[in-house]
Amino acid sequence: MTTRREHGRQVRGWLDGRVNSRQSSVVILGGGPGGYEAALVAAHLGAAVTVIDRDGLGGAAVLTDCVPSKTLISTADFMSQFETASDLGVHLEDHEGDEVADSVAELNAVNRRVLALAAAQSRDIGRRLDADGITVLRGTGRLLSPSQVEATLEDGSVRTLDAEVVLVSTGATPRVMASAQPDGERILTWQQIYSLPELPEHLVVVGSGVTGAELAQAYLGLGSRVTLVSSRDRVLPGEDADAATVIEDVFRKRGMEVLGRSRMASVERTDDGVVVRLEDGREVTGSHALLAVGSIPQTAGLGLAEVGVTLTESGHVSVDRVSRTSVRGVYAAGDCTGVLPLASVAAMQGRIAMAHALGDAVAPLNLRAVSANIFTDPEIATVGFSQKDLDDGTVDATGVMLPLATNPRAKMQGITDGFVKLFARKGVGTVVGGVVVAPKASELIYPVTLAVQHGLTVDQLAGTFTVYPSLSGSVAEAARQLHPTD
Ligand SMILES: Cc1cc2nc3c(=O)[nH]c(=O)nc-3n(C[C@H](O)[C@H](O)[C@H](O)COP(=O)(O)OP(=O)(O)OC[C@H]3O[C@@H](n4cnc5c(N)ncnc54)[C@H](O)[C@@H]3O)c2cc1C
Repeated sequence: MTTRREHGRQVRGWLDGRVNSRQSSVVILGGGPGGYEAALVAAHLGAAVTVIDRDGLGGAAVLTDCVPSKTLISTADFMSQFETASDLGVHLEDHEGDEVADSVAELNAVNRRVLALAAAQSRDIGRRLDADGITVLRGTGRLLSPSQVEATLEDGSVRTLDAEVVLVSTGATPRVMASAQPDGERILTWQQIYSLPELPEHLVVVGSGVTGAELAQAYLGLGSRVTLVSSRDRVLPGEDADAATVIEDVFRKRGMEVLGRSRMASVERTDDGVVVRLEDGREVTGSHALLAVGSIPQTAGLGLAEVGVTLTESGHVSVDRVSRTSVRGVYAAGDCTGVLPLASVAAMQGRIAMAHALGDAVAPLNLRAVSANIFTDPEIATVGFSQKDLDDGTVDATGVMLPLATNPRAKMQGITDGFVKLFARKGVGTVVGGVVVAPKASELIYPVTLAVQHGLTVDQLAGTFTVYPSLSGSVAEAARQLHPTD
């Protein structure tokens, strides 16, 4: 007998050509957040699911990018707390009573922890997929047709799988330029830094986007001398300008050399280090160079164009807000789509794809409610419309910015840099966006994200209790200051 829920699914499936999950087979290329989250949803909806993954479950997010970098940053953050100890009245001594001037990072131990944690996270994902009855094949997949996938397994054997639904979630890889070839020893991509045997004496970070800024500050915190080469006027181009200014000031205050308007032309090895040549002829020498100049999608050789899937000029898979590609039954999620390179977005796209393909209730991807965080110290968290959107009239909203220095909890914790910004639609006061620059801004942005997602007004936010004293008090205070008066 068919349940009401199954019948509902069946009817929706008939109506728009989606398949009934009870009979469907789903093949997923790539086991990163886009792929494994999709697999869990598809299995939950009753499909027979196979994930083909080349490099390890969890993908680059877990094994080389997001999880390792945030683990490294946790150590650097911990060390920076020692630097503020004296401001809070703490004097650090060794057991003989001598003053401890500095904490020292043992990079080998730090890297071991980073890699062990990433491997454990990958194993946990594997267990979860296994428990849900999902088949995982270690190997490389490519489409033979919209409903057939070929998997070349680790042992060289080849299998052909039939699929009613295919999800492509093969991620992206660091962009490498001919004039700056990584060697894994001195010239490194962000995926190669965890095998460094010792802390770079002088790290030159090329690229001041999110990855460059995060890792430059992490190594500075661990004890390296750091030079950040930025092709733009300021670091973190594309982010809230006030937030980027705070971060750049903090970088300089802590001793980082930031070279603005400095475009890298080449990076080469020298006898004892590296030389980064800039387009204007200047040279920056260091012991190591870290290249953080963007990513390219891993979409070549997947048979996508051959089966009719439309790719953009940059090689990303074109998708709509329910993750459909141009070919019926073929979906795509995550960094290979170039929609927004975040693990959280990849996972959401994957879940949406499966819900859509298998006839479950589905809400299209809402990029306006994506909260994102830059794990510098302080962190920068953002959601919704930006200051730029307000300034160029994209949204008819007004904003307020409260420096954290006036917040009582911030004073107690010795926080001097940071602010809360809130944006609300004029007249009605609906919260449409915000920026938080603070330690743990990634946690503080949640009330703002809730407000943006659910269309709460500034009065509703301001009328909600916050703990006294707390940093979230500044979120409520910003909302109070935006109370519509006419
Ligand atoms: C340094 C850094 C830090 C980051 N930090 C954050 C963060 O803090 N928060 C956040 O939300 N995002 C962060 N990101 C972004 C995040 O890592 C990506 O958005 C996320 O990895 C995208 O997930 P995905 O599933 O699309 O791809 P991936 O995680 O790259 O996984 C793709 C998988 O597909 C496999 N694959 C590729 N080709 C094939 C094939 N032909 N057949 C089978 N398998 C294949 C790969 O082996 C890989 O396992 C960070 C990125 C970088 C570079």
